[in-house]
Amino acid sequence: MDLTLQSRVRLNHGGEMPVLGLGVWNLHGRTAVQAIGYALGHGYRLIDTAAMYGNEREVGEAVRAVGLPRDDVFVTTKLWNSDHGYEPALEAFTESQERLGLGPVDLYLIHWPAPRRRAESWRALEHLLGEGQCRAIGVSNYTVRHLEELLAQSSVVPAVNQVEMHPFVYDPELLAYCKGKGIVVEAYSPLTRGNRLRDATVAAVAMKVARTPAQVLLRWGLQHGLVSIPKSARSERIEENARVFDFELPAEDMATLDGLREGYHASWDPTDAP
Ligand code: NDP
Repeated sequence: MDLTLQSRVRLNHGGEMPVLGLGVWNLHGRTAVQAIGYALGHGYRLIDTAAMYGNEREVGEAVRAVGLPRDDVFVTTKLWNSDHGYEPALEAFTESQERLGLGPVDLYLIHWPAPRRRAESWRALEHLLGEGQCRAIGVSNYTVRHLEELLAQSSVVPAVNQVEMHPFVYDPELLAYCKGKGIVVEAYSPLTRGNRLRDATVAAVAMKVARTPAQVLLRWGLQHGLVSIPKSARSERIEENARVFDFELPAEDMATLDGLREGYHASWDPTDAP
């Protein structure tokens, strides 16, 4: 079936997650509330925040202000590195949940595979899932190595692994691994933070399909089965980034974009995270 902005993917903890959402890193105050409100008004139903972004209050305010049924909007937040460990993670979650003020959190992620206490943090997230305080739990910036470690210690498979993913950091091994375990891969910095939107190959594909480079990168992600969370503070770009459901990249262009793989991280590189 053809995807739309309303399409969702099934999560292994039950429930479904929209295939496209708004990332809100670096959005604060009125700008954040307005951008989130605009996105929700335009049909976005997934908002990606984190304790570390310092804008959970704005996310909660914007979601409440739009007045959609709570269950229509999917909100993700994340456990920051300073809050690892069983009790600290539970406390950090409670604080995030209070700042959001939206009841159960749809998806709670471990933001980064911090060394030593991440297994205890995962146990805390399992507890929150069991209590129904989160509807799904997952991880972020986990490589195959980090996922194997987690799965060796726990029977609860993460619903989601949120990692940087775009053609320049394309990682088919990680995608195949996650697919095999039923883990949805969510692409952060899907627009390379804007750093590679002028790349000649991306521009040539964009010209060919009569779309913008940003739309080509997002469409590439959709056709790889990724959930994507582009960030923009601007209404016209929020709209542009959602106009990716009415065209398709031919297989040859997908292959061309796959070929841009060069391990370029616009954000963090967790490859060597111990
Ligand atoms: P993105 O790849 O989404 O790029 C955002 C940048 O691109 C902004 O500067 C934005 O500017 C610009 N932009 C947006 N749309 C367009 C467009 N159509 N044309 C040209 N430029 C555009 O970067 P992010 O790093 O913000 O990643 C997205 C989200 O992923 C984050 O906001 C966050 O929620 C999440 N994330 C998670 C991480 C993790 O460790 N789990 C790490 C990094 C991000 P403007 O706002 O002015 O439009």
